[in-house]
Amino acid sequence: MKPLIKSQNWNGLEIFSTSDNSLHFAWDPNRVSLAQIYEVSNEQVASELIEWLREPDTSLYASLEHLRTLTINATQVCNLKCLYCAAGGDGTYGEARRKADTEKIIPQLKKFFQTGRINDHLRVTFSGGEPLLYPEGIKLISEYLLEEAKNYGVKLQLGIVTNGTLLSPSNLELLSHYKMDITVSLDGSPNFNRQQRPTAGGGDPTIQIEAGLDRLSQFRHGLGNLVISGVFNRNNLDIRSAYEYYSRWKFDLYDFNFDYFESDIKSSQEFVDHIIELAYEIFENEGLEGLSKILFFKRVFDHLDSGVKLTHHCGAGQSYLALDAVGNAYACPWKIGDTHFKVQSPSERTLYRSVNQPNCNACWARSVCGGGCQFQHDSLGKGQIELFCHRMKSLLAYAFLFYIKGRTNDYETSSSK
Ligand code: SF4
Ligand code: SF4
Repeated sequence: MKPLIKSQNWNGLEIFSTSDNSLHFAWDPNRVSLAQIYEVSNEQVASELIEWLREPDTSLYASLEHLRTLTINATQVCNLKCLYCAAGGDGTYGEARRKADTEKIIPQLKKFFQTGRINDHLRVTFSGGEPLLYPEGIKLISEYLLEEAKNYGVKLQLGIVTNGTLLSPSNLELLSHYKMDITVSLDGSPNFNRQQRPTAGGGDPTIQIEAGLDRLSQFRHGLGNLVISGVFNRNNLDIRSAYEYYSRWKFDLYDFNFDYFESDIKSSQEFVDHIIELAYEIFENEGLEGLSKILFFKRVFDHLDSGVKLTHHCGAGQSYLALDAVGNAYACPWKIGDTHFKVQSPSERTLYRSVNQPNCNACWARSVCGGGCQFQHDSLGKGQIELFCHRMKSLLAYAFLFYIKGRTNDYETSSSK
């Protein structure tokens, strides 16, 4: 075998070309049981991908200049008490607010528009605490944003992240009125979710959540994307059961997240194994399109299709800001209340860079990973970054393999027509 790229600086990913001109990926010699060697017959797609990963083409980097994503805390209180809550442990960020102060939030938003900070496409997501505890605030802010977006020619997409306990008919009517994307945070099957995410009084929220999810279908036509998002850690790595449970409802996207605060190496590896097992199965049955239901894979495939590279994982501090319930802007939603991360003026652009940031220049994954979540790097500490990088690169390596294989299938299907 003649190596096309020999890892050295490429941290584990090795790509070989064989005498019959097919390409083979070998990845992570420590975990060959799952990785194996995967034959890729579409040499052209594979070569283009390798070239793309290798060459820094500055014209294709995603611009972080303008604000593309904004989260707004509609409340800073919650009716659940998740064990891993990074918002002060109870959704308050240390300062409980039952209702967002729209008289402070709206002028702050106005300044962003007036200073030309807003990108021509803007995504605004209501968050909290539990945002649906204050639907009137969501309505007021949404009305303002729609009007201002029209004035400035901005394409606006509204969304909400909710714990799913308050998906009442009136709240769903409100969300569908604004064609919102809805992300429901639910940590897998009820047994685990009730342990991780009990009600503020220590009870089980399952019945309330399931009733709300059942109701979603009645409002489906008026809503944007429906996303289910779960957090997994050493106490629950049963991705398959979670997927089966989630599949009772028709979600557009499934988001499996490894707990930001989980530092157990074995759990991190198991998480990857379970995701890949599920991905293989979906890919075999439904191809690349089916696999795009898993948010991680969708993001990677979109990157590869668009050719746009990342210089920063999320743009926190520049293209991404979070407003607290009184209109103060922060670089990252998990840093609300931390003065060091407070944005002092509407035009300030300070990228959130963790002091623990690894050297990404030598990493083959940099164009798609973008250096990872800075908050997670800070939370886990320097000694644990490898855990993040290993997980990211493992999942990315497989995403690339599926992509090449999927595009090969597309190619074969279209040429046999
Ligand atoms: S953070 Fe991402 S790009 Fe940086 S070294 Fe880790 S995997 Fe590579
Ligand atoms: S740094 Fe991490 S938590 Fe903060 S906005 Fe970026 S991805 Fe989200």
